[in-house]
Amino acid sequence: MKRVVLVGGGYGGVKTLLGLLSQTLSDNIHITVIDRNPFRSLKTEFYAIAAGTSADHDVRVDFPDDSRIKYVFREITKIDVENKQIIIQDEDSIVPYDYLIIGLGCEDNYHGIPGAEEYTESVQTFTKARKAGVAVGNLKAYGKVSVIGAGLSGIEVASEIRESRPDLNIRLLDRGDTVLKTLDSKIQDYVERWMTENNVDVIHNSTVEYVEQDGVCNNGVCYLNDVTIWTAGVQPNRLVRELPYTKDRHGKVAVNDFYQVPEDPSVYVLGDCASSEYSPSAQLAGLQGEQIAEILLAVLNDKQPKKPKPIKLKGTLGSLGKSDGFGNMAKKPMTGLLPRIAKSGVLWLSKRH
Ligand SMILES: Cc1cc2nc3c(=O)[nH]c(=O)nc-3n(C[C@H](O)[C@H](O)[C@H](O)COP(=O)(O)OP(=O)(O)OC[C@H]3O[C@@H](n4cnc5c(N)ncnc54)[C@H](O)[C@@H]3O)c2cc1C
Repeated sequence: MKRVVLVGGGYGGVKTLLGLLSQTLSDNIHITVIDRNPFRSLKTEFYAIAAGTSADHDVRVDFPDDSRIKYVFREITKIDVENKQIIIQDEDSIVPYDYLIIGLGCEDNYHGIPGAEEYTESVQTFTKARKAGVAVGNLKAYGKVSVIGAGLSGIEVASEIRESRPDLNIRLLDRGDTVLKTLDSKIQDYVERWMTENNVDVIHNSTVEYVEQDGVCNNGVCYLNDVTIWTAGVQPNRLVRELPYTKDRHGKVAVNDFYQVPEDPSVYVLGDCASSEYSPSAQLAGLQGEQIAEILLAVLNDKQPKKPKPIKLKGTLGSLGKSDGFGNMAKKPMTGLLPRIAKSGVLWLSKRH
């Protein structure tokens, strides 16, 4: 028997799963998928949950229904690579594996800033994004929201909250001297203008010193605040950070050309958990998942896997509310309705896969 266990059914994990299921599998291959949720969460849309502009139902998708898969919907508490088994919360059982695919995504990195973990809301899990949505939704008229971090998710969170609640005072604290530091200056200028026109106060060159229940202190100035949302950095899932494997400086597991852990080649790592030359994204995780499926199918059939082709990313798309956006399409910076429609199209496709 060959026991294949996939931990984390997110953007990368599901692509691996779909790739494996696309082939006829011999009866001795047993696939188990473990995720805390009994559905696939579309994390790229969690900003809309935090802003209260989408319902849960809109950002979750059923897992593939296939008799060849066993699902375990539980919280994983440890990956025991020494004994090749997964430990699950609230269950006496453990899940042993011969081949393991790790796609557990990432979580917030608070960079050791006092109060950040205790007093900020998050958009990194469904539960946390929902909690942020309740906090924002319950604010009284003219309440104050600070979003910390002006990368893609911070911009999407701040703009979506603006669209949802025109009365709120929204502040976006940005570490750099421009928002979206990895994108083209045309996009940066467009997004800055959008924020100004829509009364989102962008504070550049921020260095948040500490966070309190009712405020954020930045560069010696403390802002009174009702809700603070953290979008200022991520790190791989704790379960991955605890693994006894070689990691890069971000805590991501170093993998070879076949996404295998060099010191333990029966373990494959992808997406936000795997070291890569590219920035983490759903797109990257999905492409890696497709490649892992091909590699693993060869390995399971006792064949030598082909070295995967270099990854080609299509670009980034971001939203500014429901009818405005930005992105790099065909390597060209685009702003306005077109990239927003393209982003909705990508979501539509993800839901139908
Ligand atoms: C607000 C926001 C907007 C974003 N927008 C974009 C975008 O526009 N484009 C883009 O490409 N990327 C975007 N990203 C980044 C993207 O969501 C991630 O890079 C992507 O989800 C990574 O995929 P993954 O497969 O590695 O992990 P994920 O998709 O995060 O999947 C991880 C899975 O592991 C499960 N899991 C985690 N821990 C446990 C545990 N202990 N027990 C059981 N199950 C567990 C989770 O339930 C989840 O299903 C955005 C992120 C955020 C937060």
